[in-house]
Amino acid sequence: MQRPLMRIPYTGPLPPPDIIPRNANTTTGAIAALSKFLTAPPSPSLQNVSGDPASTVILSGAGISVASGLADYRGTKGTYRVNKTYRPIYYHEFLANHEARKRYWARSFLGWTNLHKAKPNAAHYAIKNLGQMGFVRNVITQNVDSFHSIAHPDLPTLELHGFLRALTCMSCHRDLPRDEFQESLARLNPAWAAFLTEAVASGALETENPDERRARGMKTNPDGDVDLPGAPYQTFRYPPCPHCLANPPISGDGVQTKVEIDQEGAWKSTSTAGILKPSVIMFGESIGPKVKEAAEQGIDGSGRLLILGTSLATYSAWRLARRAKERGMPIGILNLGGVRGEDAFFQDLPGSQRGELGVRIEMGTDKILPGLVDQLKRTGFSRGHRAVSSHAEEHDTNSRVFKDMLS
Ligand SMILES: [Zn+2]
Repeated sequence: MQRPLMRIPYTGPLPPPDIIPRNANTTTGAIAALSKFLTAPPSPSLQNVSGDPASTVILSGAGISVASGLADYRGTKGTYRVNKTYRPIYYHEFLANHEARKRYWARSFLGWTNLHKAKPNAAHYAIKNLGQMGFVRNVITQNVDSFHSIAHPDLPTLELHGFLRALTCMSCHRDLPRDEFQESLARLNPAWAAFLTEAVASGALETENPDERRARGMKTNPDGDVDLPGAPYQTFRYPPCPHCLANPPISGDGVQTKVEIDQEGAWKSTSTAGILKPSVIMFGESIGPKVKEAAEQGIDGSGRLLILGTSLATYSAWRLARRAKERGMPIGILNLGGVRGEDAFFQDLPGSQRGELGVRIEMGTDKILPGLVDQLKRTGFSRGHRAVSSHAEEHDTNSRVFKDMLS
């Protein structure tokens, strides 16, 4: 029997990478190596398999969204370095504990405004171009920010860890848009809503460092004069699933559930159903079998794997890279900082290869991918049938969003 596939954080130190090929340590060298990688003939061992062995599947992570203002975990401004008290919520806590849910939703309420304003960046739009040019067939992302599907709706994206744009009821499994839920939270927590307005105006939410937040005037919180790190989360209220409130479901063991609310409509702990959860795979939660299978098919349908902005710290992502390696697919990695077990991906490469069999670059995705698209256009490389309209699209300046407000 297979073990369930859980999302768990891995915080061990990762050694710095060896750059492959050696001249990929400059922008020009990196772009040249990636051009080789994407345009090389497919590996002979993959010729007779299903799918398109000349195409590339992308596996992305938090690093690709840093240029959109979202914190990653291990980067120089990553959550683990800036906020030493950061601890993600675990699925079992969210499931079992009303107090943990209050704390989660209070932080999420504060973080949503900036996330909602943030937009995809040049790297996401370069991937759109690579899809239109026929190089990239599909994207598997660990990110829950929906930037891939916003930037390239026509290039399929599998969201391995779900998404924040919706909530799912843990009883009836219906979805609810996050925007509507935010309005309900503001209505149920007017003092927090006023606090949020003030915190956004003061710039205190532009930093993830608790001391800097205080320095920028985040002195009050919704219930008085305590700093946010000690905010009274126990006063935060959240609504139930509207469907389960109207029609409390019969539970799996045949018992009639109840959904009870206070005078304003907040979920009461006497309820036995109707809890809403973000539509993300939380840490400690298992990835559904359909998503797991779709991710494996995503790997198996392509001939190379390009890993962008992730240290492969979660097992669910790392095992996809291992699967690609076992299939004999060339692997390219573009990430700032070390990647879990990366030596094994490159150990048998001949020193003479120039990127066609493997690439390891330590630079930002938004710095390299737009230039890669330009280079491929200049050299006339295209595998696609569709015309490429434009260069990386315009994007606005993004706000900062941090992991302690997401997860
Ligand atoms: Zn429900």
